[in-house]
Amino acid sequence: MSASPIIEARREQMFPVLDEHDIAHLKRFGELRPYETGAYLMKTGEIAPGLIVILAGKVQVSQGGGYSPRQDVIQHGPGSFTGELAQLSDRPSLVDSVAMEPVDALVIPPRRLRDVMVQEASLGERLMRALILRRVGLLRAGETGPIIIGSSGSADVLRLEVFLTRNGHPHKTLDSRIDSCAQTLLERFHVATEQLPIVLCPGGQILHNPGESELARCIGLVRKIDPDRIYDTVIVGAGPAGLAAAVYAASEGLSTLVLDCRSFGGQAGASSRIENYLGFPTGITGLALMARAYNQAQKFGAEIAIPDEASKLGDGEGARFLVSLGDGEHVRANSLVVASGARYRRPSIDNLSEFEGTCVHYWASAIESRLCAGQEVALVGAGNSAGQAVVYLAQHVKKVWMIVRGPNLEATMSQYLVERIRGLRNVEVLVRTEICGLEGEANTLANVRWKNRDTGAESTHAIGHLFLFIGAEPNTDWLAGSGIARDAKGFIVTGSEEAHHALATSRKGVFAIGDVRAGSVKRVAAAVGEGAQVVAALHAYLADMRVNGAAEGKVDGR
Ligand SMILES: Cc1cc2nc3c(=O)[nH]c(=O)nc-3n(C[C@H](O)[C@H](O)[C@H](O)COP(=O)(O)OP(=O)(O)OC[C@H]3O[C@@H](n4cnc5c(N)ncnc54)[C@H](O)[C@@H]3O)c2cc1C
Repeated sequence: MSASPIIEARREQMFPVLDEHDIAHLKRFGELRPYETGAYLMKTGEIAPGLIVILAGKVQVSQGGGYSPRQDVIQHGPGSFTGELAQLSDRPSLVDSVAMEPVDALVIPPRRLRDVMVQEASLGERLMRALILRRVGLLRAGETGPIIIGSSGSADVLRLEVFLTRNGHPHKTLDSRIDSCAQTLLERFHVATEQLPIVLCPGGQILHNPGESELARCIGLVRKIDPDRIYDTVIVGAGPAGLAAAVYAASEGLSTLVLDCRSFGGQAGASSRIENYLGFPTGITGLALMARAYNQAQKFGAEIAIPDEASKLGDGEGARFLVSLGDGEHVRANSLVVASGARYRRPSIDNLSEFEGTCVHYWASAIESRLCAGQEVALVGAGNSAGQAVVYLAQHVKKVWMIVRGPNLEATMSQYLVERIRGLRNVEVLVRTEICGLEGEANTLANVRWKNRDTGAESTHAIGHLFLFIGAEPNTDWLAGSGIARDAKGFIVTGSEEAHHALATSRKGVFAIGDVRAGSVKRVAAAVGEGAQVVAALHAYLADMRVNGAAEGKVDGR
C-alpha cells in the first residue's frame, strides 16, 4: 500500500494511533477480546467482526495471497486499528490481519461503528478518514479483490472492470494474451481460451463469465434481503438524488434501504469532471463525489443493495408497498422514493449493437480512455455531458471529432465548456452533422461514416471508438401497471393538486426525485436538493400513516 506517493503523504491519516483518551471513549461501543498468536482477526473473503482496535500486542496486515503473491501492508501495534470501509457495512474483508503475538483488542461491530461516527464527531471523523484512505490505498495497489482473466478490451472483461470500478471495489485484470501469470492460472484450472473471461474470487470460487449480480454475490457486495422486514422507506436508485435522500432519511432515523441495479453514483458517477457543483471550485470527478455520498449514507446506517433491480411495484403484505427484485426476491416498505434517473438514448444505427461494449461507449472514464489512447475518436452530442467527455478524452487521444446535429454548441452547452472546447487544438466540431454508418467486423469498429445534414455530403473516417451522449430517457419501465402517472415521454408526474407535495406522485406514499421526475432540472445539485427535500415529505406521510393508517401496515417492523 506504500506504492502511491499520495498515500505515503497521508500515511498518518491512514494509520492514526489512538491515545488512551480515544480508546476510553471507544470502549462503550465494543467488547474486549483476546487473540492467540497466529489467530486471524480478519480473513480475506470472510466477514470480520468489525473494526478492531489493538490494545496490546502486534498484528500483521497483508493483502493478496491465494491466487496472487502475498504483500505486507502494515504492522499494527497498541493504539492502531485494523479495518477499512468493508467493516462499516458488514462486507467481507479485503485483507488478512493476523496476531503475531498474543493480542488484546477492542472489537467494535459495524452497527456500533456507525454509532461512533455519529456520536463521537471528532474521533468519528478521524476513523472515517482512515477507512476511506485505506480503501483508496487498496484500490490503487490493485492487489486484493477478485482477479479477472481474459482478453483485455473484450466486451465482457470491460463490463466486469467497469462494474467493479464503479462500485469502488479493488480488483486486478490479467490479460490472457500476454500475462504469464494468467497463463499459469489458466493451465492450473484447465480453462480453455473459449471459456474466458473467468473471475477468481477471494473466497476461492472460479466464476465463468459471470453476470454482475453473480459476481457481486460471490464477493459479498450484495446479500439476501430480509423479506420480513418493513422499511420506513425504500429508495430506488443510488444516483445523486437517491443517495442524498438516503443520507437525510437515515440520519433522521428512518429505516432506509437503497436499491441500484448497476452501481452507486448513477449518471453523475460517469462524469469525468463535475465543475459546477457547489463547494468544489477546482472540480471533482463524479465517481469521487458519489463515493463520498455512498460512504456518508452508510455511515448513517442506510442499507445499500447493489446490484439489485426493482422490477415491479405492488402492494405489500403488512406494508404499504412490495417492490419485486429481478431475481425473485422482494422488499417491503411503507413509503417509496423513485430516484431511478435516466439513461442515455441509443441512436437508430443498424449495426450499433454489434460494436457496443467494445467500441461504442456511453461513458468516458479512465477505462475507455485507456482503450483509445493515441487514436482518433468520434463523439456524438452537444450537451454538458458530451462537452465534459470531449474535454476529458482530448487529453488522452490524438483527435476528437465532435458530431453535433444542431447549428452550434451554445444552445445546449454551458459557456465555460464551449470556451474550453474552442481552446482544444485536437478537437474538431462538426455542426449540422450526423452519423450515417458504422463499418467493421468481429465486434471491432474500423470506420465511422457521417454526413452533413444540409448538403448531404458524406465522408468516411478510420475511427475505432465512438462515444454517444445524445440525451436521456427515464428509467420508468419497471413502474408499468403501478398506477403511477407518467408524462408522454415516460417521466414521472409529481405535484398534482391531489398530491399535496411537489415531489409526491399520483400514488400516496410514493415520491419521485431527480432526473426521473417530469420537469426536473437535469443537474447534480438539483437531484441532491430534491433528495434532501423529499425527506420532510416522508416524515409527514409516515406520521400521518401512524395516526390514520395503522390498519394498512405497521411502521418499521424491525
Ligand atoms: C457523463 C455525464 C456528465 C454529467 N455532468 C454533470 C455536471 O457536470 N454537472 C451536473 O450538474 N450534472 C451533470 N450531469 C447530469 C447529472 O449527472 C444528472 O442530472 C444526475 O446524475 C441525476 O441524478 P439522479 O439521481 O436523479 O439519477 P441518475 O444519476 O440517473 O441515477 C439513477 C440511478 O438509478 C438506478 N436505477 C435505474 N433503474 C433502476 C431500477 N429499476 N432498479 C434499481 N436501480 C435503478 C440507475 O442504475 C442509477 O444508478 C452529467 C451526466 C452525465 C451522464
